Amino acid sequence: MQLPFIEPYKIKMVEQVYTSTRDQREKWIRESRYNMFNLRSDQVTIDLLTDSGTGAMSDRQWSAMMMGDESYAGASSFYNLKNAVEEITGFRFFLPTHQGRAAENVLFSALLKEGDLVPGNSHFDTTKGHIEFRKAVPVDCTVDIASDFEDPDPFKGNVDLGKLERILEGNPREKIPCIIVTITNNTAGGQPVSMANIRGIRSLADKYGIPFFLDSARFAENAWFIKSREKGYEGKSIREIVLELFSYADGMTMSSKKDAIVNMGGFVAFRDEELFRKASAYNIVYEGFITYGGMSGRDMNALAQGLYEGTSFEYLSSRIGQVEYLGKKMRDSGIPVLQPFGGHAIFIDAKRFLPQIPDEEFPAQVLCVEIYIEGGIRSAEIGTLMADRDPVTRENRSSGRELVRLAIPRRVYTDNHMDYVATAVRNVSEHASSVRRGFRIVREAPILRHFTVELERL
Ligand SMILES: *Cc1c(COP(=O)(O)O)cnc(C)c1O
Repeated sequence: MQLPFIEPYKIKMVEQVYTSTRDQREKWIRESRYNMFNLRSDQVTIDLLTDSGTGAMSDRQWSAMMMGDESYAGASSFYNLKNAVEEITGFRFFLPTHQGRAAENVLFSALLKEGDLVPGNSHFDTTKGHIEFRKAVPVDCTVDIASDFEDPDPFKGNVDLGKLERILEGNPREKIPCIIVTITNNTAGGQPVSMANIRGIRSLADKYGIPFFLDSARFAENAWFIKSREKGYEGKSIREIVLELFSYADGMTMSSKKDAIVNMGGFVAFRDEELFRKASAYNIVYEGFITYGGMSGRDMNALAQGLYEGTSFEYLSSRIGQVEYLGKKMRDSGIPVLQPFGGHAIFIDAKRFLPQIPDEEFPAQVLCVEIYIEGGIRSAEIGTLMADRDPVTRENRSSGRELVRLAIPRRVYTDNHMDYVATAVRNVSEHASSVRRGFRIVREAPILRHFTVELERL
């Protein structure tokens, strides 16, 4: 018999998991105004709100922290990180930032102006926020197939090259400062982008003379999918695939809280020295001097180590394998989940789960709340709340999808925890038809409202 895949690590330190009663959870979620971000972590049993910064660091990362060099300028930790970034991504110029959105802030400060268009696949919420905050417009050119829940296409994160070319062709060059492609495509369900697609984007970028950046939070998971699904890459290592991926881009933004398995950190990297110099000025204003940019020396050391661990094939196989394990359990008990399963999360189709709740009553949020009350599991809404209002008309923007995202932290939970989650969701599905109404917004912020929105039951 073939030996099964195992986690390529064992556990050295553990942390308490909090349990609670249904009555307690009903009270806590009401007091939280039905917003998952307002819950305290000790009110949550299994926290699947996000896989961002929630991973478990290794003993090697912790020991690298002890060697952190806290010099203001030219710290050895900076050079450790610079070497790791160059070895893994191939980019020679980089700036550390305190997290991914800070990298976006630095990059967009150097590139964007009012009225610009930024085409790509689905922009991540903070990316969209940074673009719209500058009165520029993100243009989502994701393939149409991405919205089909069950189409088995292996690369549903791809850019539709025809849609992209129409934007590039139909607008003056000065209005398009860059193309941004997110790997994996989180908003479309953690779906990967193929190497062939990246190559196609590169040729369009060359044809129209537009810089091409990768929003790379989950670049290693994307590379794992290329290795497992794209012809010609079966025999290549993750590192080789990653180097090839980045070789087609002019630069990258990185939230290290994802595939670099640290709790805080990010960076922005460039091929072009001139753009790097321009961005450096913004890094100093917003983040810190260019050799630390919002990160401690110890954190840069842990990040350097995390980049190597996060690009190991064995690690990625067990990580993505655990997500798939949860996905299969839910699918087999009849839960409508997005397929193929994403790299970092399982997405439930709330429209099918709760067909009686109209979009205006936020069905995905209703389902998040039901799953919390059932099992103390915290998930995230990816639907009408997250889609925000249109910046011009102020109307609710429908993304057409109402998803509940169960994001799995890296190296944190066991498969037993996944069984618990699958059972809780199944229990919710058994009484789903008794949920009659959704929510109404009591208070919301003008941008990125889902973080702070307050709701009440209708
Ligand atoms: C998390 C994330 C960001 C933002 O990074 P933060 O570290 O949360 O600021 C940007 N893009 C993608 C694709 C992400 O997943």
